[in-house]
Amino acid sequence: MKTLHRMRRLGLVPLALLLLTLAPVVAGAATITIINNNAAGVGFNDPTPVAPVGGNPGVTLGAQRLYIFQYAASIWGGVLPSSVPILVRSQFAAQTCTASSAVLGSAGPVTVSRDFTNAPFPGTWYHVAEANRLFGADLDLVNPDINATFNLSIDAGCFGPGLVWYYGVDGNEGVNIELLPVLLHELGHGLGFSTTTTATCSTRPPACTGSRRPRGSASPRRSASTTWCGTARR
Ligand SMILES: [Zn+2]
Repeated sequence: MKTLHRMRRLGLVPLALLLLTLAPVVAGAATITIINNNAAGVGFNDPTPVAPVGGNPGVTLGAQRLYIFQYAASIWGGVLPSSVPILVRSQFAAQTCTASSAVLGSAGPVTVSRDFTNAPFPGTWYHVAEANRLFGADLDLVNPDINATFNLSIDAGCFGPGLVWYYGVDGNEGVNIELLPVLLHELGHGLGFSTTTTATCSTRPPACTGSRRPRGSASPRRSASTTWCGTARR
């Protein structure tokens, strides 16, 4: 999750620049597909007319949002060698936002897998996009691989008058919040640059001490000294 506090915006652009720099020199490419998970008229489907901005040719708010998601997907795809398509379930939705602090967005793996053929280490959970790459095929034909949610309320001015998402790809966001580097950062979490474990446990102390748990499940599956969530897959 990326939360933005006023006056704390360092660290976003360097990641984008790094990826843009790496993109042309890495062999192999993965296909990353954005799944538009918004309802009609909302988020990626917002029909509000806008002028093209900063290299983004979209003429509706929704089209400009989708363009950035697909742009970020193509950058990541250009540096990843996976032969297995990666599906990103994506939506804009209202999230926490005040005049001083706002959740910009978040992304993470939908499932994790372990002990599949070609897994480098036994008993080790892998984000499904990486697991698919190692396995050589899609281990989960039902679910997408990554879920990404970004804050719809930013464009409503919740973070300050006139302070909205910038949908250009030229880095000229001015006083606004550039979506592209934030999205690149979050997609990185979904691809594998994140942990699905926690060192704390409030359900069964002290037996749970040191347990690990993929995030996002309300019904953990338990063993003698380990707590796993329902999203985990063998
Ligand atoms: Zn992060």
